[in-house]
Amino acid sequence: MSDVGLPCVHCGLCLDTCPTYRLLGTEADSPRGRIYIMEAIDRGELELDAQAATHLSRCLGCLACETACPSGVSFGRRIDEYRPKLAARNGAEGIWKNAAQSVYTNPTLVDAGLRGTAILERLGFGDLRRHVPGLGLLPSSATAAVTAHDHGCDWTVTPLHRSRTHQPLRARLRVALLAGCVGDQMMPQINRDTVEVLQRNGIEVVEMPGQGCCGALALHSGRRDEAVMLARANLEAFARINDVDAFVSSAAGCGAMVRDYAHLLAGTDVEEEAQAFSALCRDICELLVEVGFVAPSKPLIAAGPVAYHDACHLLHARGIAAAPRKVCEAATGAPPIDLGENSLCCGSAGSYNLDHPHLAEQLGRRKASLAKEKSPTTVAVGNVGCMLQIERALALQGVSAAVRHPVQLLAAAYRQSAA
Ligand code: SF4
Ligand code: SF4
Repeated sequence: MSDVGLPCVHCGLCLDTCPTYRLLGTEADSPRGRIYIMEAIDRGELELDAQAATHLSRCLGCLACETACPSGVSFGRRIDEYRPKLAARNGAEGIWKNAAQSVYTNPTLVDAGLRGTAILERLGFGDLRRHVPGLGLLPSSATAAVTAHDHGCDWTVTPLHRSRTHQPLRARLRVALLAGCVGDQMMPQINRDTVEVLQRNGIEVVEMPGQGCCGALALHSGRRDEAVMLARANLEAFARINDVDAFVSSAAGCGAMVRDYAHLLAGTDVEEEAQAFSALCRDICELLVEVGFVAPSKPLIAAGPVAYHDACHLLHARGIAAAPRKVCEAATGAPPIDLGENSLCCGSAGSYNLDHPHLAEQLGRRKASLAKEKSPTTVAVGNVGCMLQIERALALQGVSAAVRHPVQLLAAAYRQSAA
């Protein structure tokens, strides 16, 4: 079903917000240019040849153009409808990319990769991967991720800290965690801290067996049928849970994807279920601010000063800017500063590191330069993919700031206050 919103009036107000236009300066690598290309192909005036495909595939899907557009153009949906055509002409390169993505969304293979990298780290060769762009998706310390998994840093251990639970500010809630796949493997401590923060606020967290990848990587790579299949599998898992008030995600990319299941599954036999589910999905910071949360009694001095960077799938896809900042402020006792160029993508964008490593690296370098200028102790960002990308960029530029999810800062402040 086509639903690409209102027509583009070619005003150009979105150009400066587009990361690829900012880097390359070419109209064809801007939102307006890409719309021209797609419209010309649709009218039969242009072939989807290698050149046109390159300009379209360079789009990060960051949706900054949608935020900037006064005409309400749904650029993301428009380009997503084109992605299967782009994937179809990828040939051998596409097979390699799909295989690489399958590795990154397979928890067993990611676990094996992390363990192999942890051995390299112990032998003193851990930094080698920083110079291999595709491996930039791995966390700064594979050893820490492996240790966290091996020592019970697993969000399914639900009784964690229950004895220290605070009274909720509103009626007791019951939520299910959308654990994600690759992000939970790479940085398991984020989901652990998410569960801890929810429980400390008197919110019950229930397990959701059978959930899997949200399908975002597949959808944005043109494998729409696979994305629909994954979404349906998740809906079945969600249907087995009774009586939850919300489904909570700590990964902005996955959260935006599941919020969009209603659109993805529109016109199917599960349209109503998808609508009901999408309406209950919340980002962790969004939920905390919506229902109210207990401020830690002592601010987390060690984390500051904190620079916050907006993940595109929070800011542009969901319009969420204030909630993560409020969580950072509650955790540290001071509002975070902006990292700078906050509406500009960091270059993570799902598998962009694999597809366009040089552009991804340039965007990451811009963030590292801003961090160098502002010298924060911590960079906070609410999406695991952005965290991995910024961590790598900071390491490459020799910037020593830590990268944390806002909910990690809040969990650490609670622990410090309770000590
Ligand atoms: S989604 Fe992002 S990268 Fe793609 S055209 Fe819009 S602003 Fe540019
Ligand atoms: S997408 Fe929106 S902002 Fe960009 S050129 Fe078209 S109408 Fe203007």
